[in-house]
Amino acid sequence: MTMNGIRVRFAPSPTGPLHIGGVRTALYNYLFARKHGGTFILRIEDTDQSRYVDGAEDYIIRALEWCRIDVDEGINEGGSFGPYRQSERKHLYRQYADMLVDRGHAYYAFDTPGELERMRIESEKKGETFIYNSAVRDKLVNSISLDPVDWNARLDRGDPFVIRFKMPRDEEIHFDDLIRGHIVVNSDTLDDKVLFKSDGMPTYHLANVVDDYLMKISHVIRGEEWLPSLPLHVMLYRAFGWEAPLFAHLPLLLKPDGRGKLSKRDGDKLGFPVFPLYWPYGETARGYREDGYYPEAFVNMLALLGWNPGTDQEIFSMSELINSFTLERVGKSGMRFDPEKARWFNHVYLQKRSNNQLALEFREFLRARNYHTDIVRLEVLIGLVKERVSFVKDLWDQTDFFFRAPENYDQEAVSKRWTESTPAMLRELIAVLLSTADFSPSGTEASVSSWIKSSGYNTGTVMNAFRLVIVGALRGPRVYDIISWIGREETIKRIEKGISIIGSKKK
Ligand code: GLU
Repeated sequence: MTMNGIRVRFAPSPTGPLHIGGVRTALYNYLFARKHGGTFILRIEDTDQSRYVDGAEDYIIRALEWCRIDVDEGINEGGSFGPYRQSERKHLYRQYADMLVDRGHAYYAFDTPGELERMRIESEKKGETFIYNSAVRDKLVNSISLDPVDWNARLDRGDPFVIRFKMPRDEEIHFDDLIRGHIVVNSDTLDDKVLFKSDGMPTYHLANVVDDYLMKISHVIRGEEWLPSLPLHVMLYRAFGWEAPLFAHLPLLLKPDGRGKLSKRDGDKLGFPVFPLYWPYGETARGYREDGYYPEAFVNMLALLGWNPGTDQEIFSMSELINSFTLERVGKSGMRFDPEKARWFNHVYLQKRSNNQLALEFREFLRARNYHTDIVRLEVLIGLVKERVSFVKDLWDQTDFFFRAPENYDQEAVSKRWTESTPAMLRELIAVLLSTADFSPSGTEASVSSWIKSSGYNTGTVMNAFRLVIVGALRGPRVYDIISWIGREETIKRIEKGISIIGSKKK
């Protein structure tokens, strides 16, 4: 697909629902690939069997589909660099770990988990932290400290072992990140990371680097939480003698108050979803889709959490995002997640929808509640309240009284707006409405206004009482729009009901 060698990957681990930070990583990779005519790859990193969660892989795929982040190469799409699921590439990694051992960049280690734990505790007692590195590796049980005959015998016997990277002593490691700039780390701050585990599986570090190399990844765009792994990855590329891809580490997404990272566990606690879709397994969690967000609004909102276009433009379609996106305009500092802003985006996208589209969406909602109304009437209704809503489900709160007569009446409004003379006044109003031939909003407005003028009533007095019996409270769009929609018969029924219920209660 690509002619220019731009190949990026989204490499999630199927350990649970995909967090919105993960969706943003996928999105930035996708935008970058599309902008440069490159290839967007989905690779499933499932080598950690203890963290594998059923349903997570499928969730990731459905979440990307919902956002319209199209995968070019991946577990479902195929491609010439597959398989794209690391567990299916299992056989491949050992030879690379051995290659590093042969070149003196890695070694076999036989220390048991129990021994390592004991050393950790002993160090702790002395107020130190145990690090498996150049300072101690000579005293531990591995192919550096042991006699070759000994460690070979252990391998032949099938003793459990891991393969560790031999991090050089006291070396300044220099590397660059497209977002963070030049970074220098001293190798003594790093440990001899395990590359290959005793269960025959590679660790994240080995599999990730080997696959990025084999899949010819040109740019690694991922979350900031992986920045601490970067020096090791850079060292691995050097040890293999491979050219490293370019790296870009994206800023963290922070909680709305700016205190700490927005985590999976924040789930419903903060009152908004942290996942794109509903997660149906075990501890269930809300999703943006089920909360009524449009995927376009969700994607637009996510795109601006870390990237800024350099202009005041806030509303971007996917193709506008593709055109404008650059890694140069991704910031370094964490971005606070703002749930209000998320709602605002949906509001804007809802306003862009036609009344007809919204009527079709709202009809589904109404059907589920057993209200059946034709599309043309729903379009009129939506035209009246659209500006007040951010979600289709909000339409109901704005229009419930169109569908059903009030059962009770707002107490405060009654005590302020209802007097002894109100019933008589409303009876006159009924007569006016009965003799109004044109029951359109402008027709009823004309005849009611002229009656108010000639009768000498106060407009506010009439209209508040009128609204109260039609809606049950002093809210909603123009009364003339409401009564024209519900029709003459229903209007008069509601006025009579109001007179009889409120009129008898209020002395
Ligand atoms: N499997 C890692 C994750 O779950 C991938 C990190 C990377 O992109 O290198 O995020």
